[in-house]
Amino acid sequence: MAIIGIDLGTTNSLASVWKDGKVQLIPNSFGEYLTPSVVSIEEDGQVFVGKIAQEMLLGRPRQTFREFKRNMGTDITCQAWKHRYRAEELSALVLRRLKEDAERFLGEPVTEAVVSVPAYFNDDKRCATKRAGVLAGLTVERMVNEPSAVALKHHVLEKDMERFLVFDLGGGTLDVSLVDAFENIVEIQAVAGDNYLGGKDFTQVIAEDFCRENGLSMAALTPGDQALALRAAEQVKLGLSEKNFVSRRVLLEKGEYSLEMTNQRLIRLSGGLLQRMAKPIRRVMDDSGTSWEEIDRVILVGGSSRMPVVAQYIKSICGTEVTVDDSPDESIAIGAGMAAAIKMRTGELQDVILSDICPFSLGIQVTGDRFSPIIERNETLPCSRTGFYTTVNDYQDKIHFYIYQGESLSASENLLLETIRIEVLPRPAGEVRVAVTFMYDINGILDVKISADGENWHRVITNRNMGLTQEELEDRLHTLREMTLHPMEQERNRLLVETAGRLYRECPVRYRGVIERQLSRFERELKHGNDREIREAYVRFSLFLSLAEQAVNNREETGRFDESFWVEDDTE
Ligand code: AMP
Repeated sequence: MAIIGIDLGTTNSLASVWKDGKVQLIPNSFGEYLTPSVVSIEEDGQVFVGKIAQEMLLGRPRQTFREFKRNMGTDITCQAWKHRYRAEELSALVLRRLKEDAERFLGEPVTEAVVSVPAYFNDDKRCATKRAGVLAGLTVERMVNEPSAVALKHHVLEKDMERFLVFDLGGGTLDVSLVDAFENIVEIQAVAGDNYLGGKDFTQVIAEDFCRENGLSMAALTPGDQALALRAAEQVKLGLSEKNFVSRRVLLEKGEYSLEMTNQRLIRLSGGLLQRMAKPIRRVMDDSGTSWEEIDRVILVGGSSRMPVVAQYIKSICGTEVTVDDSPDESIAIGAGMAAAIKMRTGELQDVILSDICPFSLGIQVTGDRFSPIIERNETLPCSRTGFYTTVNDYQDKIHFYIYQGESLSASENLLLETIRIEVLPRPAGEVRVAVTFMYDINGILDVKISADGENWHRVITNRNMGLTQEELEDRLHTLREMTLHPMEQERNRLLVETAGRLYRECPVRYRGVIERQLSRFERELKHGNDREIREAYVRFSLFLSLAEQAVNNREETGRFDESFWVEDDTE
């Protein structure tokens, strides 16, 4: 049975599989590879995932969710109807859709996936990602760091021996990795990143500037208007990767406003974001003690690398050649598919070794809330290290070991993974010697062994439930099972209905009637037509909507509305 690779992205998700001697991307029901990581939940528990849900963002902002990957492993929830959903549950719905697409593509059940995660995801976020897999009916034994997946793709396809940096700026996260690739080995030497920096932040900067320039306040807009402002800002941001000046008209409830932006202005507005991008690069270089002369090139990946503002800035701070990946949206998924093939020991990839590193230090708390690392960040995995400790109080007969992950000197500012209590023979302070051994593997499983007075305590830290009892987890599984994904075969038609709803909102009021009548006609044909009539209705209505989309886009760009095609045919 095939193991699939999944890039579970902040903005889009993709699946891939090793088939016929190469990695193939798996198309969704629209024949596209990118499935927007957007989920919309109906009151009856029906769920829309992807493109349709994206169309619902404007009309149903309260029950449609995106960018939830940012909240992975936190307690932040989204409310739809009577239920609250954690990020991993919303992600599980996306994974379920990808799993179904893969099953249709392969013609067999799919039960296991290698999922990519930002290298800088901590243990909470990694465990939440694994749980999302469980909730979607997928075993996720192996996770691959996103930049490692990109490195794997480049090395397998190009077979170059080189040392390079992968700079991966996606929708919501930034990861930087230093890679050494030679023969069959892809070795990750250092990683750093920012879990809260991505394309979304540039969109937000543009939307806020638009509000300021028009005397509006983003926070005071209705959820629907906020979604419209963000959508316009996103379109302007995408436009700026093609030309230097982009303008749009934005139709909000209160009236029509103008959004104008140039790349120069965006550089001025996003100075703070750009500086944050430099930090992980510096850290990777410092941690590994590498100079620019030792690096052959920097590869930019992730959708946001397409922004000229980003590429220009990175070129200005890196002392070596900078290239933009040829398929920045797909590289991670292709690499995840290769990692899945390595795990399956399939075909040409069976001898390839991808070594990764520990992104955060692991250690224990010692006196005075001090953090004592046992495995330092950027150690190559798998690795095993031992720390030695002694008692601090006379005749103490118990020791509590608090195991933390993080980089802060104060233990309590790091992430608490586990507490282990051991019993020792009471003796004067300093006379009891305890050895604490951490073994950390490529799947993120931490094996802890504590030895004192000839006795051993052993604990494997994996798949932590993050304060959830098994019962609560079962309950979540039950809730998700009750929710049904909208059937794939009806997706094409439903997408047109939702697109019509969005265009209705976006076009001038006096033309709305045309959209409404065309939509009603399409819905009637769906209800009463036979298969051939429904297919014809689909073609006709999608043509109408693409012309409408063009007219709305032109109007947003030029302020002029081409009315010529709004003449309705009366061939009902
Ligand atoms: P990813 O998570 O790698 O799919 O990246 C998604 C992010 O890339 C989103 O924030 C998009 O707005 C951004 N993005 C995609 N294409 C472009 C483009 N042509 N210009 C600027 N940003 C883009």
